Amino acid sequence: MNKQFAVIGLGQLGSSISIELTNMGCEVLAIDIDLDKVNDYADVVTQAVQADSTDEKVLLALGIRNFDHVIVAIGRNIQASILTTLLLKEAGVKEIWAKAQNDYHEKILKKLGADKIIRPEVEIGFRIAHLATANKILDYIELSKDYSIIEIEVTDRLIGKSIMEIDVRANYGCNVIAIRRDRSVVVRNIGELKLKHGDVLLIIGKSEDLERFEKQGV
Ligand code: ADP
Repeated sequence: MNKQFAVIGLGQLGSSISIELTNMGCEVLAIDIDLDKVNDYADVVTQAVQADSTDEKVLLALGIRNFDHVIVAIGRNIQASILTTLLLKEAGVKEIWAKAQNDYHEKILKKLGADKIIRPEVEIGFRIAHLATANKILDYIELSKDYSIIEIEVTDRLIGKSIMEIDVRANYGCNVIAIRRDRSVVVRNIGELKLKHGDVLLIIGKSEDLERFEKQGV
């Protein structure tokens, strides 16, 4: 059975999460206190309900504890976000992700036991700064303080060569984990594959090594 999600708050973040999860085939219960928002998404998600998520009885009546994963996408109303997260935790929801508006909000949500804190502006800002300075990099995913994954398009220098010949591991300390070619992703036996124009390398490594590869390797 597909994973069941509940998304609380249909602002910009909550609505885009709900739409994407639905597109991916997940079941999505979307909750918002604002009836207009609920009506806007009624035909999009599995079920859209008008409810106040700070009302414990309402949450329990919606069977919130049966959902695998609940995302609290209420930002501006910090009090509602905190109370909702607390009620979800008390109800025993296993995976709770919550959006934080600022550092204090983040601290409280962590203390309450939210499993992941979402800081959209901070996360996007970080990625945009990296994308803006690294002109060859198509995408950038930070895994931890030290490690990242980058997507980088092969340049003329690399076309016709194989990953083994370039030896990214020995020369730059990074690992090519996959190659995106024509809409598919090749993950097996990529070492011998001769690189073609338009291929995109997915590389994992320490940020400084990835930067070195970007500057000198492609
Ligand atoms: P964004 O920045 O992602 O648009 P907002 O904080 O502006 O986030 O929007 C959050 C949404 O959460 C709004 O649609 C709002 O109606 C909804 N919301 C706020 N408080 C509650 C609540 N107590 N119960 C359910 N939904 C709520």
